[in-house]
Amino acid sequence: MSLFANVDLSEKVSSTGIKKEEKVKCLIIGSGPAGYTAAIYAARANMHPVMITGMEMGGQLTTTTEVENYPGFPEGITGPELMENMRKQAERFGTDIRFGVATQVDLSQRPFKVVVDEENLIYTDALIIATGASAKYLGLESEKNFMGHGVSGCATCDGFFYKGMDVAVVGGGDTACEEATYLAGICNKVYMIVRKNFLRASKAMQERVFSTKNITVLFEHNTKEVTGDKAVSGVTLLDKNNTEVKIEISGFFVAIGHNPNSVIFKDYLETDEVGYIKTLAGSTQTNISGVFACGDVQDPRYRQAVSAAGSGCMAAIDAERFLGSH
Ligand code: NDP
Repeated sequence: MSLFANVDLSEKVSSTGIKKEEKVKCLIIGSGPAGYTAAIYAARANMHPVMITGMEMGGQLTTTTEVENYPGFPEGITGPELMENMRKQAERFGTDIRFGVATQVDLSQRPFKVVVDEENLIYTDALIIATGASAKYLGLESEKNFMGHGVSGCATCDGFFYKGMDVAVVGGGDTACEEATYLAGICNKVYMIVRKNFLRASKAMQERVFSTKNITVLFEHNTKEVTGDKAVSGVTLLDKNNTEVKIEISGFFVAIGHNPNSVIFKDYLETDEVGYIKTLAGSTQTNISGVFACGDVQDPRYRQAVSAAGSGCMAAIDAERFLGSH
């Protein structure tokens, strides 16, 4: 039996295992720059926002080192420090920040239902989705087997463990170039495994890679298998002639892009073919009135901390106007 007599639990959200129910005005899912900015604005607008942080509290920036392009920090700031500052600022205005993962939603009617950690059901008048995006992997069995034992999706998080060793980075975009140059400062040698005969990264990033002596770019190579016993000790590649090439490495870093974290919303919200939530041009409004999306989960194009923060501000203002008129 629902604690809120006017709303039935729909079939989409199972009541099994629900231990607690509550009703809030504004729920924010995600704690990256978009989520925290939305929280700051929503709290200051007296919307009493509750934030569900997700597994990676602070989002992707907590896995980076220096952030030099976030305005207001002329000397740069570390990603974790920036996110900690945003958290404190959101808390200062009264955001109720809770560590947890949104596991199910029902957006078929208002108030929307969001289940957290499979046991807490939250009804909300307005929902702000700021769930970001997660690193992609190649999908090889061997990659999965060595996850956390030499395979990583984040050089800045794990690079330190490979100090003085040889490592490889897969991918040819800005992330791969950034990770390769970062690792080059810690490791003995860095191989970049690039499937095309060019790098997709910006010219500036490419130049950094090409001018770093201990980075070797292997163009037109694909990963066949990550090898090793208990931990990674090598990788078998296929070159453009399909000839096997074996290299010895201790760390295998995958940097081939990200997937938007939109799966739990897919029954309700329109997305593009990759899964990025569609929003009305110039706003954060999704196809459901009262549900707003901001940050990387709706941005396949810019994906920057500052653009995420900007759209978080927009989402809170959109939510405030929505609540004021409904
Ligand atoms: P991108 O999508 O730009 O690049 C992904 C790279 O991985 C491409 O080289 C792609 O190859 C390769 N790739 C994809 N799938 C596979 C696969 N299965 N096997 C092998 N290689 C694969 O992602 P990024 O994460 O690099 O960047 C995302 C966005 O974020 C971009 O817009 C980027 O500019 C931006 N960014 C900006 C930064 C900055 O300004 N400091 C830092 C990091 C990212 P192919 O080219 O063949 O498709």
